[in-house]
Amino acid sequence: MHVCVIGAGVVGVTTAWYLARQGLNVTLVDRLKSAAQGASYANGGQLSYSYVAPLAGPGVLSNLPDWLLNADSPLRFHPRLDLHQWRWCLNFMRACTLGRSRKTTVELLQLSYYSRELVHQLTARESLQFNYRRNGKLIVYRDSQSMALGMQQVAFQASLGSQQHGLSREQCVALEPALAHIASSLTGAIHTPSEEVGDCRLFTQGLLDRLLATGQVKTMFGTEVLGLRRERRRIAAVLTTQGELPVDGVVICSGVASRPLLKEIGIHLPLYPLKGYSLDIPLNEDIARTVPGISVTDSARKVVYAPLGTSLRVAAMVDMGTGNDRIDPSRIDLLKKQVGENVSCAGLVERYPVGWIASRYGAKQTYHRRHPLAQFVAQRGSRCLGFYPGLWQQSCGGGPRQWRTACDRLKTIQGKQGVLISSVVALVGS
Ligand SMILES: Cc1cc2nc3c(=O)[nH]c(=O)nc-3n(C[C@H](O)[C@H](O)[C@H](O)COP(=O)(O)OP(=O)(O)OC[C@H]3O[C@@H](n4cnc5c(N)ncnc54)[C@H](O)[C@@H]3O)c2cc1C
Repeated sequence: MHVCVIGAGVVGVTTAWYLARQGLNVTLVDRLKSAAQGASYANGGQLSYSYVAPLAGPGVLSNLPDWLLNADSPLRFHPRLDLHQWRWCLNFMRACTLGRSRKTTVELLQLSYYSRELVHQLTARESLQFNYRRNGKLIVYRDSQSMALGMQQVAFQASLGSQQHGLSREQCVALEPALAHIASSLTGAIHTPSEEVGDCRLFTQGLLDRLLATGQVKTMFGTEVLGLRRERRRIAAVLTTQGELPVDGVVICSGVASRPLLKEIGIHLPLYPLKGYSLDIPLNEDIARTVPGISVTDSARKVVYAPLGTSLRVAAMVDMGTGNDRIDPSRIDLLKKQVGENVSCAGLVERYPVGWIASRYGAKQTYHRRHPLAQFVAQRGSRCLGFYPGLWQQSCGGGPRQWRTACDRLKTIQGKQGVLISSVVALVGS
């Protein structure tokens, strides 16, 4: 039995791994030259299984005017004459209620716990090296209202099994001395000791190497999928720039690009692309001692910091409606400035001239050239089920933290294995 997986990001490669383990022949197709060159290339590195605050939450609407009017805000919105954009925004705003956010939290936590179990099994089985660490996570707050909302989420998640606790400013700095520099601007933090980090690209590429060694998976890189050919009511072939590929099943893991593919066969995904940015700060031994060892999320600025091997990964910002995947230099400058304020806190300022960080980041290779990482968010915050014969699963649109839940989606497919007339569209907005 032959299955085509479209998209070789973390979701596609892990999907292929589970399918191959079921004894199926898999062809993994991607329009780019190798695996993990899309959103999986350089994400925030956070495997946050326990703190899953949905993007559409009750605090969001009151922050919107500030975010939209302030050029330095973490969220930038470019309005377009595009019905899909406005429909998406409307649905997103509708999802910003406490009830909806809690329902999404429950679903996300279930996915997260299950996925954590699967990721642990998979990485142990394949001995994957991807700068993995269980270093815990601090979400730091700069005002008491946001901290109070965060603590409400913690209380709710505690009822669902998450173990987290609030820290005062002093406790926060005692736990992570690298934050001493910005202590006066902090109100406190939420600490989740069980959280993990890892490099998504290394994970994906390492897993693909293992898969290729089994001989059960073929790759077609540099090959774009143009459409799906139907025969009566089922999908019989995948149409690519290299010709037609006959299939018994298809799994679509092509992020936001899944939308046009599925539209053709009458499935409408409520996905809209958001652009995010990331930086890598190379660490030498001296610097490594002065940057956070725990993952840190700066809640007000929406910047995440994760130590990954010999670098510190920083990811941030949401640009919506830019209509392109180019890097905006003004966003990179802003990010460098914010990182300089937070990280240089750790004693770098005395040792290096001010601007050291900026000049290092300014070098081309210090940010990810192709990344503004496209990030795909389903605003509905809940599962949508759709059915199409021959389409096993459409697996995209997991929002900002889809890596964390990648494995869960695949297990769903495992359950469906052998049942060709089944498909589950699992959109889990977060
Ligand atoms: C700034 C940022 C920070 C993030 N931080 C985190 C984090 O800390 N933790 C976390 O869990 N998640 C994080 N995420 C989210 C996570 O990185 C993504 O959800 C995840 O990488 C998505 O994986 P994917 O395989 O679905 O998509 P991708 O990695 O984008 O893969 C999709 C693939 O499909 C291919 N493709 C598309 N269309 C076609 C076509 N027609 N034909 C052939 N190939 C096609 C593309 O080339 C691409 O390789 C972050 C995202 C961003 C943007």
